[in-house]
Amino acid sequence: MFLKDLLFPKFCLGCGFLGAYICHNCQKKLSYREKDFCLYCKRSSLNGFTHPICKRRDGIDGILSIFHYNNFLKTIIKSIKYRLATDVWKELCLVIKPESLEKLKLFKNLSWGKFYFEPIPLYPSKLRIRGFNQAKIIAQFFNQFLSCPLTAHLTRKKDTLSQAQLKSNQDRYRNMRGAFQAESRDAIKGKNFILVDDVLTTGSTLKEAARALKSAGAKNVLALVLAQG
Ligand SMILES: [Zn+2]
Ligand SMILES: [Zn+2]
Repeated sequence: MFLKDLLFPKFCLGCGFLGAYICHNCQKKLSYREKDFCLYCKRSSLNGFTHPICKRRDGIDGILSIFHYNNFLKTIIKSIKYRLATDVWKELCLVIKPESLEKLKLFKNLSWGKFYFEPIPLYPSKLRIRGFNQAKIIAQFFNQFLSCPLTAHLTRKKDTLSQAQLKSNQDRYRNMRGAFQAESRDAIKGKNFILVDDVLTTGSTLKEAARALKSAGAKNVLALVLAQG
């Protein structure tokens, strides 16, 4: 046992068991998404591609997610955001079933050309307080399987409210509208991007980020999220 483990013992985020943040038993509480869906109509769609009739010119072309956003994952993601970022994240990466990441290969094999990972940015003051952007950490993890260069073309102009706090779709839309600004049109034009985020709730964050990239000339915009609510 390391000294660090003696000084700061780990307790399982699911059951309180001493020794790990995600104990062997609680790994079973992680719920993997078997089926993918279309972001716009929420109906199932092979490999998460947006149905041709649901496609928007300035929208998301496809989305993949790994987990269902259940209570256990909610606790894990909260602790990744606020306290134990790297330690918990490392454990989560170790326990993710490799077969659940197989579907990522699909993005790799598309004939659309090279992709860039664009993590959803945080509002600058939030980033300063937290010290890191969890979406960027997640993108670095996915990068092991897809090896897409990471970019940071988007900036967050609006300190948006948490989408989960807003009840109506209209309020959520208004909250996100104009939230992102794309820098350097020249670097974006004609390129393909995969937006990365931790949790998908309504999809308005991703849609708004896609709009900013596409209005700056991006060709295809896909999304990859850790969990879907
Ligand atoms: Zn446990
Ligand atoms: Zn659809």
